Amino acid sequence: MKRRKHKVEYLKALVANDKGDVFDLDNYAATGADGSVLSPLTSSDCTPMPYGSEIMYLPDRKPVLWNIAKKNFETLHENPYEPGTPVFPAAAFNSPGYMISHTSSYEESADAGYLPLFSYGAVGWSEKKGFMTAVIQVDKERRQDLRLMKPEKIAAGIRKMQKAMPSNRLEKHLENCALKYGCPAGKNFFLGRYEAPLPTSRACNARCLGCISLQADQKIIPSSQNRINFTPSPEEIKEVALSHILRVKNPVVSFGQGCEGDPLLAADAIIPAISMIREKTDEGTINMNTNGSCPDILEGLFDAGLDSIRISINSVRKSCYNAYFRPVSYKFEDVLQSIDLARQRGKFVSINYLNCPGITDSPEESDELFKFLKNHRINMIQWRNLNFDPLRYMQTMNQAAPHSRPTGMKPLLEKIRKNFPQIRYGYFNPPKEKYGTSRHDA
Ligand code: SF4
Repeated sequence: MKRRKHKVEYLKALVANDKGDVFDLDNYAATGADGSVLSPLTSSDCTPMPYGSEIMYLPDRKPVLWNIAKKNFETLHENPYEPGTPVFPAAAFNSPGYMISHTSSYEESADAGYLPLFSYGAVGWSEKKGFMTAVIQVDKERRQDLRLMKPEKIAAGIRKMQKAMPSNRLEKHLENCALKYGCPAGKNFFLGRYEAPLPTSRACNARCLGCISLQADQKIIPSSQNRINFTPSPEEIKEVALSHILRVKNPVVSFGQGCEGDPLLAADAIIPAISMIREKTDEGTINMNTNGSCPDILEGLFDAGLDSIRISINSVRKSCYNAYFRPVSYKFEDVLQSIDLARQRGKFVSINYLNCPGITDSPEESDELFKFLKNHRINMIQWRNLNFDPLRYMQTMNQAAPHSRPTGMKPLLEKIRKNFPQIRYGYFNPPKEKYGTSRHDA
């Protein structure tokens, strides 16, 4: 029997002019980068752009695209439709739950500064399906689907909470998160769904390159949120947490948000808050998103009733971890100790795996990740896109350790699934009611 050949549909390249208008090009295919490995994007290896994603243009950079007629990659120096005028690469910032398999493909101009703190996924245009992006869906839950967050319902939720806790500063802070920063976790608190944030910590003992709440020089990399400037009292934390736990099905409340430092450094407020919550109810999952730097402090949090932790890691190679997290008063070994302690205490442990195609899927990185997964029995990998300038990140990582030719993000995910079927994939912190129900959300 003869096999029918499928015609490959290249996605048309998307670029932007100097006004920021994005448009497609007839003779070029969109191109994705997996580190230094470039490939033209086709409709079969991309997904219609997830709802809520945004297309951005990249200033001070030139698109690298696949010239369909010449069958080679080409750097575009000017707008082919308006010769003499500049042209810029386009990229997609994809919705939560989707991990990028390729970054946008471009070259920096000599005077380029850092890109703002987003991930820059590859994007193209299909005549049949519209905008398409190079992503892998890792979580199907609609926890942060903007279609389910109607502004009038958020406003009503805010009014209700203002009435219920008129002098609670944490509630006020969350209003700002929901309305000013559009934070989906903040919105969910007022909507009474899924996971509510409990930002608490003003300080951090790391200096992550891509920290969104504090950057040493705002002119070089602007942080996208202001860090919380007060420490809520244990009573304020308890009031917000209990209001969520007592009205939501399978509720999660989480310390460690984008608008704070690391919650381990605010344990003096958090430990009594958790104790007060647990005096009132055993319901709800109390979670902490953290850098996992202080196992001793974590022990006290577990004693008080913390249920789960999510530890952020960009790499399990110490040199690469240090180059991104730039720990000030702890060591990578402390992070590993925290993971092991949590498992010994029977807690649910996720890693918040900050990935960047070209680095995460290099053989050196994936070999170490396999060793890590064998030695530290984590429950879940939350596959997160690293929100940092991809080329600058690659330079930093390549200085920290060797990375040879990447093998692809999709094959990496498949290989881990095959070898560690017990490890759950996802994007969101699961409630304890669902710890055992699904190995994989994707
Ligand atoms: S651990 Fe979190 S709060 Fe601390 S520097 Fe890194 S991103 Fe910022």
